[in-house]
Amino acid sequence: MITDKVPYFPQKRLLTDSRLISTPENTVFFAIRGERHDGHRFLRELYDKGVRDFVVQSSALTPALRKEWESWAGARFYEVKNPVEALQKLAAEHRSHFTLPVLGITGSNGKTIVKEWLVQLLVGAKNVVASPKSYNSQIGVPLSVWNLRQEHNFAVFEAGVSLPLEMPALQRIIEPEIGIFTNIGSAHDEGFKTRLQKISEKLKLFTKVKQLIFRSDYREVSSEIDLLLKPVNPALEVISWATETEASIQVTFISGDATSEIRFSGRYGHHHFVVPFTDDASLENITHCLVCLLLLKIDPAYIQTHLEKLRPVSMRLELKEGIFNTYLIDDTYNCDLQGLSMALNFLNRQTQRPHKTVILSDVLQSGLKPDDLFATIGQLLQNLPIDTFIGIGPEISKHRDAIPVGRTYFYRDTEEFLDRHIIGDLTNSTILIKGARAFSFERIVNRLQQKTHNTVLEINLDAITHNLHFYKRQIGNTTKIMVMVKAFAYGSGSSEIASVLQFNRVDYLGVAYPDEGIALRQSGITLPVMVMNAMPNTYEVLRHYNLEPEIFSRKSMQEWINFVEKLPAGSSIPQIHLKLDTGMHRLGFVEEDLEWLKQVITDHPEIRIASIFSHLVGADEGVHNPFSHLQYERFRKGTDFLEQATGYVVLKHLLNSAGIIRFPEYKMDMVRLGIGLYGVEATGQKQEKLQTVGTLRATISQIKSVAAGETVGYSRKGVLDAPAVIATLSIGYADGYDRRFGNGNGWVWVNGTKCPTIGNICMDMTMVDITQAKAREGDQVVVMGEELPAWQLAEAIGTIPYELFTGIGERVKRVFHKE
Ligand SMILES: *Cc1c(COP(=O)(O)O)cnc(C)c1O
Repeated sequence: MITDKVPYFPQKRLLTDSRLISTPENTVFFAIRGERHDGHRFLRELYDKGVRDFVVQSSALTPALRKEWESWAGARFYEVKNPVEALQKLAAEHRSHFTLPVLGITGSNGKTIVKEWLVQLLVGAKNVVASPKSYNSQIGVPLSVWNLRQEHNFAVFEAGVSLPLEMPALQRIIEPEIGIFTNIGSAHDEGFKTRLQKISEKLKLFTKVKQLIFRSDYREVSSEIDLLLKPVNPALEVISWATETEASIQVTFISGDATSEIRFSGRYGHHHFVVPFTDDASLENITHCLVCLLLLKIDPAYIQTHLEKLRPVSMRLELKEGIFNTYLIDDTYNCDLQGLSMALNFLNRQTQRPHKTVILSDVLQSGLKPDDLFATIGQLLQNLPIDTFIGIGPEISKHRDAIPVGRTYFYRDTEEFLDRHIIGDLTNSTILIKGARAFSFERIVNRLQQKTHNTVLEINLDAITHNLHFYKRQIGNTTKIMVMVKAFAYGSGSSEIASVLQFNRVDYLGVAYPDEGIALRQSGITLPVMVMNAMPNTYEVLRHYNLEPEIFSRKSMQEWINFVEKLPAGSSIPQIHLKLDTGMHRLGFVEEDLEWLKQVITDHPEIRIASIFSHLVGADEGVHNPFSHLQYERFRKGTDFLEQATGYVVLKHLLNSAGIIRFPEYKMDMVRLGIGLYGVEATGQKQEKLQTVGTLRATISQIKSVAAGETVGYSRKGVLDAPAVIATLSIGYADGYDRRFGNGNGWVWVNGTKCPTIGNICMDMTMVDITQAKAREGDQVVVMGEELPAWQLAEAIGTIPYELFTGIGERVKRVFHKE
């Protein structure tokens, strides 16, 4: 059935990302067409999973599609001009059924933190609904507002815009009554001509608010409010606060070692609060929250007791290895339904371990009655392959019957779980640990995680996704993408990275050696995988795991044929990839081989060729342009010749990361992305478009003051001309911290200060001069990351980022996180 009116169905879940499906029968899917995605491609998959309601875009419908849909029993299609607009309209309609006060937050930074802190500070005072995580976009906002229920009596939604003209749509959906403008920075500048344009666009969220909270130290914000907002919203009450300029609330920050005092005077009288932060950004964010709470007339004594429990926000979910061969998904930050649904989805995607376990606390602040809440949780768990469920808290224990999992355990509190549960029975599980803050689930994580040698490589999975999308945009959607995950995914951790890539539907993975491919298969990766160095004695195991070898010489081709011919009839045979040597002179068929190769292809139709490829030797450097063009010409000639023999289409690919940027005209059927995914733009031209993926951190084991004339480290190399403060770090050349960084050739960041190494790097330790920094024993320092980019470090010691990444030692624990 196809109709053009989308009905208002407040009980249903709205879905825009087909991969995040949880309760199909109860879902309305919005097929959205974007630059990279087309939701219409997933309708069949969703229908097969049980989804029946689809909002589709008129221009995507062909007569063939309409015909096909007629045969989908029970499916309902709502045909609209623009599904995003339909989603927004639906959310706006939903919003119009509620009269509760709604707070809208926008600004360049801090939106999500201010929102999360307000939610925490209002626990017990109000029943709050808020945007999950940072759902603040044209799609995120309607999905957030859709969570409004009659039980709520306060709502907090954040709105972000990256392009002019986006905000009015969000204003109509959120309809805020109170506003917070957090601050103005340089983030997302690209879509806007000027900072003023960015401010004026953001202010459009507040055209109908009664009160607006902002920091008037941002003079441009104040003046734009006077100039633009007041004329369209004459009744507006501005609630300005400032530390430096005049404002209706005067604020003073007095920072100590670990806490700060914030003093207020003016509009709401005199108050002072102690907060567990000292950095400027946190102080600004918490002050926005405090002003808002005073505006809401929350008792200051109540606020103070809640402030003490506040922690810096880490909204991210971490994936790391645990004891008993477990894998932990640490998502102990918050526990609402939306967050639970996302975390379960993430758990479901992890294939590294054969079993799955969920440890869940009571869910606070859902706005639902307990029976409905647990029915919903039951639904979310329903079709997931979860072996063990552990519920912690009085409410969840009471509703144990609603949990549809075979093996369940319930405990009153975290203490009881830690005392009683036999941890060993979680062996070989991926364990989702998700609990409301009050349950202190970090204690569970602490018990289960591997005790790390204090040096970790943090991998930001969102940055991986961001970088992948950047390259996908460069190549467009007619060219496929193979991602190179050789050498432990450039040191980042192959199965975890591969699982993100599989989720993001890349076309191929590439590895160097069979073992790397086998490891991927054993951790549940099903994408096609090309193996570059496959010796004949590995062909059988490659076949067993359906890994596709690169064939690069007459000898390897002959061996492959011999291998295939000996297989019993009807055996499955992996496809192969032919490598042509067009100038690298490493592996590959040379021009003289091609006549022979063509004949062999003709004679052996049973050998399926997936692709033919070659590799540029100097894609990143302009001086080699003529040679790169020549390589392309040679490649083209070779493939044209060989394709006469195949009789079917073969993928052709030439470009690596640098090639994608510098030779887009040679992208052909597929590209092979490597270092760019991991955050280094090899040509240097578009580095700012990529996000840092890896952050290598070490810990300060000891600090000492050393007198002038003394030396530091082996061979007395670190000579002190003046007295200095020396910190010993838990990282050495065995962890991949190259010896060439010694004696001042390398730096680390210590609490915001760049500190040079002193003396030789040792096997397990490094000494740095922290005379200029503020630090304590136990502090973490950044050895490589945003502040110390890999390309800069590499330059300092005359190597390339590839070597630094892949050199990071095995004993350095990898911890993965995402928002
Ligand atoms: C490693 C590799 C790549 C990726 O190279 P980057 O420079 O990391 O993008 C591409 N193709 C082949 C054959 C490779 O070995």
